[in-house]
Amino acid sequence: MGKTSYHFNRQTLTYEEVRYSTGQKIWAVLKQLSIGIGIGVVLFIFAVYVMDSPREQQLKKENKLLLAQYGVLSHRIDEYQKVLDDLQERDDQLYRATFNADPIPTSIRRPGFGGTDRYEHLSDISNSKTVIATTQKLDIMAKAMYVQSNSYDELIKLIKQKEQRMNNIPAIRPLSGKDMKGMSSGFGMRVHPIFGDLRMHTGIDLNADAGSPIYATGNGTVESSGWEGGYGNCVVINHGFGFKSLYGHCKELLVNPGAKVKRGQKIATVGMTGVASGNHVHYEVQVKGKYDNPAKYFFMDLSPEEYSEMLYLTEHR
Ligand SMILES: [Zn+2]
Repeated sequence: MGKTSYHFNRQTLTYEEVRYSTGQKIWAVLKQLSIGIGIGVVLFIFAVYVMDSPREQQLKKENKLLLAQYGVLSHRIDEYQKVLDDLQERDDQLYRATFNADPIPTSIRRPGFGGTDRYEHLSDISNSKTVIATTQKLDIMAKAMYVQSNSYDELIKLIKQKEQRMNNIPAIRPLSGKDMKGMSSGFGMRVHPIFGDLRMHTGIDLNADAGSPIYATGNGTVESSGWEGGYGNCVVINHGFGFKSLYGHCKELLVNPGAKVKRGQKIATVGMTGVASGNHVHYEVQVKGKYDNPAKYFFMDLSPEEYSEMLYLTEHR
């Protein structure tokens, strides 16, 4: 049962019962309903757009934390880049310089990752600027590390070559100190002991008794071992790296062409075959096809004093 409404009639001065039609009743219900829906919609908008749900609050908190974490990571990348810069600097200025390797150009060490296309997939996310900048820093560092790693590989190769070079250079005297009985002729323009004219002496003559051992002065391959005109019995060793050594006037030859020899290995004995006035070894060193004073390379079995004395003698006798 609904409430009954009354209306006061001024003319009859009586209360009369008010009767609503069905339409009026429906209209009243709809009015109430629309007010309710309106309030509901306003509350819904407030809840969705102004008030965060617990899930949203959680995400916002996480987002803030992630952003802070990005800041920390970015700072750490900067620190690692500084360490890498230092390694690169030492590599160019010290390690590569030591092995006669050119420094690596900055354009290769510090490649640019130009254009934003590369990071387009990151541009839609919030805080994309921070994310892109950090990603880019990492990419640049990864490339630089790859270049640095290649440089170290190259250095290892150069070190091995240098080690081999040190073993191959004709760096000792061809006679042992106890066998050597002085030097009869040094390197350069000399009066020839037999022909008596001024000639270029392309090696040094070291005197010793007949049969004294002659040693290979560095690792290498025997290029020739046999009779060689004025040199008589003669051995030539190719040491690689542009170095060759020659041992002339030998009595006996103890190696065959093609044989691999080690520094200090006995390859022949002292004699006076070919054009020679006494027992000695005529010892030559060629560097890239040019004759050089062999005494320059005697740095391995001589003290610094002996070395400079030897060098002086070979240039003044
Ligand atoms: Zn000579």
